[in-house]
Amino acid sequence: MQAPPVQRLVTELGKLPGIGNRTAQRLAFHLLRVEAEEALGLADAIREVKERIRLCEVCFNLADEPRCTICRDERRDGELICVVEEPGDVIPIERTHEYRGRYHVLGGALSPIDGVEPEDLKIAQLYERVAAGGIREVVLATNPTTTGEATALHVAEGLHRQLPELAVTRLASGLPVGADLEYADEVTLGKALVGRRAV
Ligand SMILES: [Zn+2]
Repeated sequence: MQAPPVQRLVTELGKLPGIGNRTAQRLAFHLLRVEAEEALGLADAIREVKERIRLCEVCFNLADEPRCTICRDERRDGELICVVEEPGDVIPIERTHEYRGRYHVLGGALSPIDGVEPEDLKIAQLYERVAAGGIREVVLATNPTTTGEATALHVAEGLHRQLPELAVTRLASGLPVGADLEYADEVTLGKALVGRRAV
């Protein structure tokens, strides 16, 4: 039986995705072994993101100011919007270095079975951004999963209805079907971006 504080740490670590009990034990013992400064650095980093990180008021990416670093970057192509499901999906797209536009984070994918309807996502906010003008193309980069495809279709229809002349594109095929964007390697994802097609 472990001392209660150690057990508490193991329990908390075990709640993290992909961390089983054995890994949680190993991480807990690692944290016990390292210098206090190093272990507390982790605790502080967690506290800081929970206190300071919010959603960008424009694109709903993670931000530590009202607008995220990408929306604040004047060098980005403001006429191009890439629509993704989660803030984590911005990272693999950035890693490809094939995209220089801005983003719009929906906050999930449509899934009627799970009760996720269009009004639960930032879809209306996307339409507002597009309606404000100055947008040349919207790239739909939702995950190549059933819910991701359904979301892309729904958003494409809405955009076409609103602005028939707007270019709406979807990532080219070649991405592993059924997997999330974050698991795609950057070469494959880069090719899918370059080869995007009108929908
Ligand atoms: Zn932003």
